[in-house]
Amino acid sequence: MALFGTSGIRRLFDRELVVLAFKAGVAVGRNCGRVVVGRDTRTSGPVLKHALMAGVLTSGAECQDAGVIPTPTLGYAARHFDAGVMITASHNPPEYNGIKLWNPDGSAFSPEQEKEIEKLIYDDAFAAASWRKLKAVASYETAIEEHVRRIRQDFPASLRIKVAVDCGGGAASVITPRLLRKLGCEVVEINCQPTGFFPRPSEPTELNLGELIKAVREHEAHAGIAHDGDADRMMAVDERGRFIPGDKLMVLLAQAQGAKDIVTTIDASMSIDEMGFQVRRTRVGDTAVSHELKKGGDFGGEPSGAWIFPRISLCPDGIYAAARIAAIASQYKLSELADRIPAYPIRRGSVSSDGVALSHLESSLMALKPVSMTNTDGFKLSFKDGWLLIRPSGTEPKIRLTAEARTESRAQKLYESAMNAIQTVRKEG
Ligand code: MG
Repeated sequence: MALFGTSGIRRLFDRELVVLAFKAGVAVGRNCGRVVVGRDTRTSGPVLKHALMAGVLTSGAECQDAGVIPTPTLGYAARHFDAGVMITASHNPPEYNGIKLWNPDGSAFSPEQEKEIEKLIYDDAFAAASWRKLKAVASYETAIEEHVRRIRQDFPASLRIKVAVDCGGGAASVITPRLLRKLGCEVVEINCQPTGFFPRPSEPTELNLGELIKAVREHEAHAGIAHDGDADRMMAVDERGRFIPGDKLMVLLAQAQGAKDIVTTIDASMSIDEMGFQVRRTRVGDTAVSHELKKGGDFGGEPSGAWIFPRISLCPDGIYAAARIAAIASQYKLSELADRIPAYPIRRGSVSSDGVALSHLESSLMALKPVSMTNTDGFKLSFKDGWLLIRPSGTEPKIRLTAEARTESRAQKLYESAMNAIQTVRKEG
């Protein structure tokens, strides 16, 4: 069984996860050397962190404890080490936890690197280092301060606006309100107590941000900002209390960064291609975006809320993104900027992959006569007025469908064509 999914090791907290944390610690210590460890606010964070650090120390490697910090803060701190380890299950419910590994440049471990760690965990044939070589644990207390200082370099002017911030009880609670105050903002805090019990579902979707939307309107804030549990994600609400969809947020952030060469995922809106950027597309997942940015590019992201600023690090940085949104909102009305960006009807859904061969589906859908086809992730058929993406889910036995077109009826028609083709292929299979 593969231990690592699309976002590291992630599962319900149990005895197995504690044992895995120890073994992963040994493997990372042995393969990488000096390691920095951080965790989000989950109640299982302390036990898993200590298990992991015990593993790193057992291997004879050096380990520093950065405490409760967001994933991007750990990703930035990793530049001083051979590897970073984050104890987090991102936006999963609080009973989950996990382990994600980071390179010094802030990029997540590649599948090849994860395989090496996985092999060491399964071999289970480690020897403890000699007692003479065991190291002490040091605290790495300046991670938050260093991240804040680096972000502030890019925002020298006092922002003088009001911002509502919903950290969802996650790791951003320890940094985003503080950073924004240092930037000159008045901050309205919602769910910014790092208790480990998430007061709202952790994923920053429109559906989960009712409280933030209400707060922006009540306090007449210039912007609303929300994070997931480990704050690698950031989503925003305009001054009218309207959730800004991820595709639009990507354009806003890229433009404000002065970006020309951007990287995004295959499922992001076609509106991004119409904004004058040079756009490269990867398979779905921020890790793919991050690795593509190693070849160059000045901004990357995916519509789920992961934004990468390669000048800082290759780790999605919800904290930097929060500062950027506040800076934009100090100069313009977010609603007016967002309304200027085109949005097209988009249909998203998923079906069971049971009995559906993707190759059969692909040949069946070629009857729609696309102008082009790419196999970056599953397959994507492009038409003059829209596109259709069909790809296997990375986490469940499902096929994910996305259709976008210039009109509602065309998007619906593309989506239905895919659904019909799936039924036909399933019957024939
Ligand atoms: Mg996350």
